[in-house]
Amino acid sequence: MDVWEPRPLPNVTPESERYWEAASNDRLLLSKCPDCDLVIHYPRARCPDCFTETEWTEASGDGRIYSYSVAERMEGWPEADLPLVVAYVELAEGPRMMTNLIGCDPDDISVGDSVSAVFISTEEDNIGIPVFRPD
Ligand SMILES: [Zn+2]
Repeated sequence: MDVWEPRPLPNVTPESERYWEAASNDRLLLSKCPDCDLVIHYPRARCPDCFTETEWTEASGDGRIYSYSVAERMEGWPEADLPLVVAYVELAEGPRMMTNLIGCDPDDISVGDSVSAVFISTEEDNIGIPVFRPD
C-alpha cells in the first residue's frame, strides 16, 4: 500500500486538521487533557471528562491489537490490498483507535499482538493516514 487513493479521504475538521497533517509527516498526535491527564482519540478540542481545553501530545506509535475483523471483499477497496484487516488498536498511551492492519497474513495475527504505526501518504500534502503493522 503506497498511496491511499482510490479510498476516500477523511473529513478534515478544525479539531482534526493538525492530526491529519502530523500523520502526513509520519507523526501520530493525540489530544491530551492538561488538567486530568486523560489521553483522547479521536481528536477533540475539549476533554470529555472535565471539559478543559485539550493539548496535543505525540504518541509513540506503539500499540496492541485489541480486536480485529477480516474482510475478504470490500466494495471500492483495491484488490491488491485485500484481505482488509480492520482493527481496534489499543495505543501505549491508552486510547483505542479504529484502523487498518497492513503487511500481515490475517492467519498469523492475534488479539494482544504488538503493532507499530506506519503512515500512508495521500494526494493531499496535509493528509496522511495512520495504519498499523504487526511488529
Ligand atoms: Zn480532563
